[in-house]
Amino acid sequence: MDTSLKLALIQNDPDLPEMHRTIALKVQNGERITFDEGVYLYQHAELGYLGVLANFIRELKHGDHTYFNRNFHLEPTNLCVYDCKFCSYSRLIKQKEEGWALSMEEMLDVVKKYDGEPVTEVHIVGGVLPQYDVAFYSALFTAIKEHRPELHVKALTPVEYHYIFKKAKIDYATGMKLMKDAGLESIPGGGAEIFHPEIREQIAKDKCTADQWLEIHEEWHKLGMRSNATMLYGHIEKFEHRVDHMERLRQLQDKTGGFQTFIPLKFRNQHNQMSNVPEVSVIEDLRNYAIARIYMDNFDHIKAYWAMISRQTAQLSLNFGVDDIDGTLDDTTKIYSMAGAEEQTPAMSTQDLVALIKQVKRKPIERDTLYNVVTDYTDVVFENEVKPQFYKLPVIN
Ligand code: SF4
Repeated sequence: MDTSLKLALIQNDPDLPEMHRTIALKVQNGERITFDEGVYLYQHAELGYLGVLANFIRELKHGDHTYFNRNFHLEPTNLCVYDCKFCSYSRLIKQKEEGWALSMEEMLDVVKKYDGEPVTEVHIVGGVLPQYDVAFYSALFTAIKEHRPELHVKALTPVEYHYIFKKAKIDYATGMKLMKDAGLESIPGGGAEIFHPEIREQIAKDKCTADQWLEIHEEWHKLGMRSNATMLYGHIEKFEHRVDHMERLRQLQDKTGGFQTFIPLKFRNQHNQMSNVPEVSVIEDLRNYAIARIYMDNFDHIKAYWAMISRQTAQLSLNFGVDDIDGTLDDTTKIYSMAGAEEQTPAMSTQDLVALIKQVKRKPIERDTLYNVVTDYTDVVFENEVKPQFYKLPVIN
């Protein structure tokens, strides 16, 4: 059944609570829902209902298009001066024997390994270490751009930027301008976790605050540049904290328009200091994607990392507001496996990713970092794909 028809049925269903119908009407009219309505959805809305609303918005914005990109990760270090309770990745400096910290040369070797490969982006992410300062990262970005000018440098988060700018005694505006001049082209969404201080204090004490995170993105947007935003959900936060988080992002987006994508990240409880906190169910993951799609009306894209939530859940998420499932990956990244992701060796070729999207009747679009279309795979048939065979039925008299 057509999504708008389903939405119309919801609005006219006398058995549904009035608030359900009011929110459905708002969605159909393209109106923004309020903070209280967001909390209401988390508390009372069923998965099926949320799916209809989120899918309506998703298809209005993107039709069946489902985006992915071809990138690789460069992870300078897993040592970190901070000690976030949920972090399965970082090894504190005192546990150095379990960690790595790449030199400039080693980092450039990682980049060179992809020479000739059809990747469009390097995503640089890792821990925070004193030796990686403003001068180091500026030199790294410049060296990458000199080596491969067309490779988009998406790097670091306000957690690193706050740390290195403070150390260099420069303000955010000056720092971000320096980074841009050095070759930085966009900022990924990490380090946001949960903004509300009640929760942030408990899980990510000491690193940049919510206001600092938002201010760094704002300065970056003022330079005409784009970034993403994440939310770490499903641990000790309450529904109100999730809506508060999205509300702060929505407000900044109203001001700057610089965010491209909102990425809800599921809390995983392996190998970290919060192993006693149970993980939420796949149903809650899908509800969360859907509510994010409904609430974040001024964000173009909602992304799910297939490696983190599994291929099947990623396929399902495409009916719950998600229009981007990240990208092809080789299995060099450690972030997913160390965090107890569904995929312990997250490798997926373009052909696999295209097939995954087509299996659920969506259109696979390879994008670059800024969502320019690189290849529309809707009608592409790969050479080794098994073509459907047609048999002539015998005529039986
Ligand atoms: S989440 Fe980031 S800042 Fe926090 S400990 Fe892990 S690597 Fe460090």
